[in-house]
Amino acid sequence: MTVPARPIDTSSASAPDFDVDVVVVGAGFAGLAMLRELRDERGMSVRVLEAGDDVGGVWYWNRYPGARCDVDSTDYCYSFSSELDEEWDWSERYATQPEILRYVHHVADKFDLRRDISLGSRVTEAVWDEGTGHWDVRCGNGVTARGRYLVMATGCLSATKRPEIDGLESFRGQVLHTADWPAGPVDLQEKRVGIIGTGSSGIQVIPTIAPLVEHLYVFQRTPTFSVPAQHQVLTDSDRAAIRAQLPERREMLRNSPTGLSVPVTRQSALDVDDAERQAHYEEYWESAGFGFLLAYADLLTNREANDTAADFIRSKIAERVEDPEVRELLTPRSYPYGAKRPCVDTGFYETFNRPNVTLVDISASPLAKVTETSLHTMTAEYELDVLIFATGFDAMTGALLRPEIRGRDGRTLRDHWSAGPLTYLGLMTSGFPNMFIVAGPGSPSLLGNVMVSIEQHVAFVADLLVRSMAEGVPTIEADADAEVEWVQRVNDTAANTLYMEAASYYLGAEIPGKPRVFMPYAGGLRRYRRECDEVAKDGYRGLHRRP
Ligand code: NAP
Repeated sequence: MTVPARPIDTSSASAPDFDVDVVVVGAGFAGLAMLRELRDERGMSVRVLEAGDDVGGVWYWNRYPGARCDVDSTDYCYSFSSELDEEWDWSERYATQPEILRYVHHVADKFDLRRDISLGSRVTEAVWDEGTGHWDVRCGNGVTARGRYLVMATGCLSATKRPEIDGLESFRGQVLHTADWPAGPVDLQEKRVGIIGTGSSGIQVIPTIAPLVEHLYVFQRTPTFSVPAQHQVLTDSDRAAIRAQLPERREMLRNSPTGLSVPVTRQSALDVDDAERQAHYEEYWESAGFGFLLAYADLLTNREANDTAADFIRSKIAERVEDPEVRELLTPRSYPYGAKRPCVDTGFYETFNRPNVTLVDISASPLAKVTETSLHTMTAEYELDVLIFATGFDAMTGALLRPEIRGRDGRTLRDHWSAGPLTYLGLMTSGFPNMFIVAGPGSPSLLGNVMVSIEQHVAFVADLLVRSMAEGVPTIEADADAEVEWVQRVNDTAANTLYMEAASYYLGAEIPGKPRVFMPYAGGLRRYRRECDEVAKDGYRGLHRRP
């Protein structure tokens, strides 16, 4: 079903630059999918506002050496066009950032998306106008847009986090952040480089740059669980095999709890004897990559089961790191495997066997200050030419709370979410009519393949908007009670898992002072999709749709 685009109102003296049905914030995977769906499939007028100077979202900004997808690229791409599938070939199991960006460009060009995108336009303010029932949106560069609907497609991992360290501004060397890496060349050859952070980004940078630099100092606060990516270059016959199975594979992703193409088992790790379990883990170790977490059904719900996987990974780390002291520092012991987002790597642990790499334990001796030449911990000084922050993001809520978003009665989103994000289905928040969030807090988002989440949200929102417009329902808003119930569901679901046992960004632990609430929905993509389908079937239960 399509609805006619409304004509632009040019009568007002302060007419916005764009007057459309839908303003979308962000031209990453989510924003582009939303634009194509609403404009090309549903006949709505759309303006996308994007902070970057090009499309691509995280894949535009995260240009650090070694950046690549850590979910199979076959599964980490759009599924809406068989023609797109036919003409696009991934060259490797996990595509590099430049290849993913080429894919995004290809999609933007193929579907002629750029004409409805304003680049270099960082949204600073979005205000709900109760009188006219519109969102007025303003960007830092002066661009303005008005839309009946506002879609925040800003990503869960896009607001970069750079810890404050005394004296950083005095450093004479180069300071870089993995998620804001310069577009031009960065010369690390023969440099003394320090890197802070050993999450998914650090784990990709470290083995990539270690062979180039004179010396690499890795400042680690918490050791991470990482399993081998088992990366491979795809051959023509690999690609032919993938293509032959693509429809079934896509169907499997859509119906899986994780959006990953790794078979899901109902078996407990405790149902089998040691030898069988060991062999099973070995098999997953050799192929599954991120899917190692799915080796048994209860790895994220039963600590004893989890310990078997954690012990297995620890034994592998022991095989990979030669120096016993370094090995111990790299071995995670304080939280369950998977409770913080697990990593996959290519040669991460082995990098610490190189003579030009030093691991610095900043849990024992925290970072103290930066001087013109050095990074200091409480007990030592490290002279550096380059300092890299691989310190991640203000996850899930950062990008939503940095702009000033004002809903009904001028209330800000920051105020409404001061004790943590409140959403209904992760899609809407009460008091903010006609505002939608794609793959944000309260939805499965980061707990599965986010591409599958994005496509499900795009379809849900598009159906809802078209139906509401056709029915003459201009205003859609989450019911406050439904929101409270959903947030409770999100909390209860997480309480039955081991996620609560780690200081992770799922819980807001990555930013001092951030409310400690579990943000993503941990019940799995499949259950969540069913829930959304039922809500739609019940006439969008939990949403006020006001004529
Ligand atoms: P991250 O997972 O949040 O890791 C940040 C790292 O920096 C952690 O080791 C953290 O230590 C450390 N850190 C943060 N603040 C610090 C401070 N004040 N002092 C010292 N150390 C500090 O961030 P990320 O590595 O950028 O990854 C974020 C997410 O992006 C990943 O989980 C993943 O979802 C996504 N990602 C995906 C890919 C991919 O698909 N290939 C690649 C990269 C990232 P603590 O653990 O002690 O906090």
